Amino acid sequence: MLKKGASITNIVIILSSWGVIKIPMLANEVKFLGIKFMGIRWVLTVISIFTMGYFMALFVKTRDLPKPEMESKERILTIKQEYCIGCGVCVKLLPEYYEIRDNKAFVKQDPKEKSQIAVIVKMADKCPTKAIVVGQSE
Ligand code: SF4
Repeated sequence: MLKKGASITNIVIILSSWGVIKIPMLANEVKFLGIKFMGIRWVLTVISIFTMGYFMALFVKTRDLPKPEMESKERILTIKQEYCIGCGVCVKLLPEYYEIRDNKAFVKQDPKEKSQIAVIVKMADKCPTKAIVVGQSE
C-alpha cells in the first residue's frame, strides 16, 4: 500500500528522470564536458529529483488530485461528452448531480435512491442535445 503523497513523489521522479537522465544526453556530456562534469551533474540531478518529490508530496495531497471518473458500467447517470455543448441547463436544474468543467458537463454523483431517478429522467429530456443518459449507456 502506498503512503499518502507517494504517488506525487513517484510522478515527480518519473517525469524528472525522463527529462534529465537519458543515455544520449549523458554520452554528449561526457564527449563535450567530460566525465567528471557528467558524474557530478548526474548525482546532483538525482538528489534534486528525490528532494523535489519529497517536497511535492508534502504540499500536494492525494485529496487535491482529480478523481478518476467512475466506469460508465457502474454509473446510472452518464453524459456523452461528444454531444454536450456545455449550456449548463443540467447544472442549473440539478446542481447536486452535475457540474461544468472546461465547458462540459460531468456527473458529480449518481442518485442514491430510486425515487430520485424519475426527476432525473424528466430533467434529462431538457438537455438540448440529449447528452444525458440515464441507465446503462452501452
Ligand atoms: S444540459 Fe446537456 S448539453 Fe447542456 S451542459 Fe448539460 S449535458 Fe451538456
